[in-house]
This record gives sequence, C-alpha cells and structure tokens, in this order.
Amino acid sequence: MVPRPSRPPAWAGYLVVAGLLSVVCVCLRGTAHDVLLSCVSASSAVAVAVGARLHRPVRAGAWWCMAAGMGCWALGDALFTLVYDVLGSQAYPAPPDVAYLLAYPLLGASLLSLARRARPGQDLEGVIDATILSVGAGLISWTFLLRPALSSLGDDLLGGAVSAAYPVGDVFVLAMFVRLMSAAGARSASFRLLTAAAAAMLVADVSYQVAYAATGYDGVGSDPFFLLAYALWGTAALHPSMRRLSDPGPQRGGELGPGRLLLLAGASLLAPATLAVQLLAGVSLSAWSVVVTSAVLFLLVVARMWTLLRRLRVQAAQLRELARTDALTGLANRRTAEAELDRARERAAVSGAPLVVAVLDLDRFKAFNDTFGHPAGDALLVGCARAWGSELAGTGVLAARWGGEEFLVLAEGLDPARVHELLERMRAVVPSGQSFSAGLARWDGAEPAAGLFARADRALYAAKAAGRARTCPAPEPAGATAPAL
Ligand code: GH3
Ligand code: MG
Ligand code: MG
Repeated sequence: MVPRPSRPPAWAGYLVVAGLLSVVCVCLRGTAHDVLLSCVSASSAVAVAVGARLHRPVRAGAWWCMAAGMGCWALGDALFTLVYDVLGSQAYPAPPDVAYLLAYPLLGASLLSLARRARPGQDLEGVIDATILSVGAGLISWTFLLRPALSSLGDDLLGGAVSAAYPVGDVFVLAMFVRLMSAAGARSASFRLLTAAAAAMLVADVSYQVAYAATGYDGVGSDPFFLLAYALWGTAALHPSMRRLSDPGPQRGGELGPGRLLLLAGASLLAPATLAVQLLAGVSLSAWSVVVTSAVLFLLVVARMWTLLRRLRVQAAQLRELARTDALTGLANRRTAEAELDRARERAAVSGAPLVVAVLDLDRFKAFNDTFGHPAGDALLVGCARAWGSELAGTGVLAARWGGEEFLVLAEGLDPARVHELLERMRAVVPSGQSFSAGLARWDGAEPAAGLFARADRALYAAKAAGRARTCPAPEPAGATAPAL
C-alpha cells in the first residue's frame, strides 16, 4: 500500500494560519483591523474547544471552561467592533465590557481546576506563593492602574467599578496561572505555549489599560500582544501534549528552587520598589497601600518559612525512623540495638536490675532458602518479625535484626529464666515450622557490650552444637559482679 502523505498536525496548521491573519491584522487599520482581530480571537476559542474534543484530556471540564472564557473574550472583541466601529458609540462602560469581564472568572477557574488536578489535596505552599505574587502584582496594579483610573472617572460609579474590575481580573488570572505553574509537573510543549499565551495576554491587557488611562482610547499598540496571545492559546490547546498539561508531576512539593525564590523575592520587593519609583518621580506617594502590602507580604513570607520548617521537621523524623529500622523486617536495626544496649547498661548500672541479651539465629536457613527460594526466605524473616512483635508486645523487650538471619533480644528488668521462657514462646511462633537457636547472657554489671555479646554468641554456638532449636544460657564470667536478685 502506498502510505498516505502525512498531513501537518492541527496545532501547526492553526499556528501558521492564525499567525498569518495576525500579521495582516497588524497591517490594517480601523474597522477592518477590529473585525480581523475578532476573527482571530474567535478562532482561538474554537481551537480550545476543538483541542478539548480532539485530545479528550482528563480534566476536560477545565478546557471547556477555558473555551468559554476565550469565547467571552472573543464576544467582547466582536461587540467592541460593533459598538465602537459600526455604531460609532462613545459609551463607557458598554456591552463589550460585560463579555470581557465574564472572561476573567472563567479563565481563572479553568486554570485553577488544572492546577488542582496537577497537585491534588492541600497545596498550602502553592497557595502562599501564588498569593505573594498576586499581592505584589496587586500593589502595582492598584498604584499604576486602578488609582489613576478611579481618580480620572470622578463621580461615575459604574465606570469606576468597571475600570477597577479589569486590573482585579488580571491579578486574579495571574494568581491562578502562578498556581498552575507551581503545580504542573510535566513541562510539556502545551504548558510552555500556554505560559507564553498568558504572559502575552497580561502584557496586552495591562498595556491597553495603561494606554486607556493615559490617552483615553488608543489600544492599537497592545493589539499585537493580544493577537499573539490568541494564536498561542489556541495552539496550546490543539497540541497533543495538552493531555499531560495537568498531570501530577513528581512531588516536588513546594520546593523552593532558585527560580521560585527569585520570583518570590522580586514580588516581596515590589512594595519598597513602588515607593522608590514614586519618590524618584516626585509623584504623590501611595504610602498606605505600600504599608499594608509590605505587612501582608512579610506575614506571607513568614508563613512560607513556617511551611518549610514543618516540611523539614517531617523529613527529619522520617530520616530518623529510616536510620533506626531494618528495611526488610521493620525491626530495630543493629545500630539501634547497639545504642539501646549502651543505654540499658547505664540504666542497669544505676538500678541494679537484671539486663539480659539473647542472640537468635534461624536454624538451617540456608537450606530453607535453597528449597523455597530467596523471596520465601525473606518472607520468613518478615513473618518472624511480625510474630515476635505480637509475642513481645507489652513486655518492654526489644527485638532487633542483627544481620542476615540473626536477631538480638534485649530485656531489662527480667531475670534470665523469664527471658528463657519468652524465647521459648518466640520459637513456637516462628512461621513455616522453622525454628531458631539462641544463646542468652546476663550482664555482669561491668563487662563491655562486646564482651556481653560475645558470651551470648558462644552460648548460641553451644545451642547449635547441642542439636539446634533450643536456648543455651552463657556461664557467668569469672569475677562477675552482678548484684544478687
Ligand atoms: P544454621 O542452622 O547453622 O544457622 O544454618 P544456616 O543455614 O541458617 O546458617 P548459614 O549461616 O550457613 O546460612 C545463613 C543463610 O541466611 C545464608 C544466607 O543466604 C541467608 N540469608 C542471610 N540474609 C538473608 C536475607 O536477608 N534474606 C534471605 N532470604 N536469606 C538471607
Ligand atoms: Mg547465621
Ligand atoms: Mg542460621
């Protein structure tokens, strides 16, 4: 069969067409410009919807919500053309504002939904980081956009509210986008395209508002950024990697890498920077907003430090636990056993209570491994640990894995006869009909840990030599100073 000539992927085709239309649009002026711009923005809403249908991502709802948001934006562009170009109206606010302002919550909600899938459950660190950036951006937005816009509108309450809603919407979408950026694990092509699109959208929207506040209306300068944002946004949704955009990444969990640290430091410095710019420019200071923002940013940074400390504490506890236990059986490991033996000797030296150690070694374990396989041998070791755990529960006796199929039992305050009895019970619960031999020694009140262990070990060999499956007590060392019971 002759292979079908491969078609270029939908996303590439869309990018080229939307890019070409955008170039033409930038060259046009007046109504033709506005109509073509509306077409490109409508195409990006359609592209998002097609992407959601074509690639069937897990959080399809988020993508449909994004398509609705872009659709509202496109409707705003179309109504803008109709109201201002075709009908020649001068009204503000006007119907396009309703459509534009509806787009912000829809886009923000879709980004939040994607972020929540990328990092399900509590993501306090992501929320704090997004809030730090939003508060910083909010101050800039308030100082350089909102305040001038509100003061120029005078008594026009509705106009003031609408003008205020745009920068608030920008900050909201930015916050949700930062949430997504910090949560998404897979840095897919779609993720990068969406990042670029959102950045272009913000630049376009903010520069439009600045131009509007400064000159009344002249938004043409920001249109190339709008067109870029539309083209990239549609391409991001059409790219097949959009399916992975909200995949939970490897749990980097609030990690404070150099990039994020720089970003947060920059956001925190926006408050003093705002004041410095105003001082240098000799304009009236927005002192109270800087005071409030600095205080909030400071508290947020402290909260972020607290989350890091909490994380460190949890990790330190996990590491301590890992260093204490044997990976296979979950029993205390040799390091822990040695430390416990030292401490027990110190306590026994003071109290005079008996201190007994027993060394246990599974009988003919090699044959067990050879017959049933190494995994079965492992399972036997785990089974022993579990059974002994229940047997020793509440006795205060420590069982540790010394290494291989050898274990150490450490009993404080129990005389050797009682420990002997406990060992018999432990032997009775060894799974698969297996057994162990044990050597038992009582601390003489002075000997070093190694000496005590060596005596128990010699007793173990005596138990092996005597036929296994038994416990042999070690003879008291010469010159023992153990206090009489
Ligand atoms: P004895 O009754 O004289 O103690 O005989 P034994 O076969 O138990 O003694 P030996 O020391 O000859 O063999 C111990 C075996 O334990 C050899 C080794 O392969 C096995 N072993 C040590 N650690 C592990 C482990 O973690 N898992 C498994 N499955 N086997 C282990
Ligand atoms: Mg052995
Ligand atoms: Mg053995």
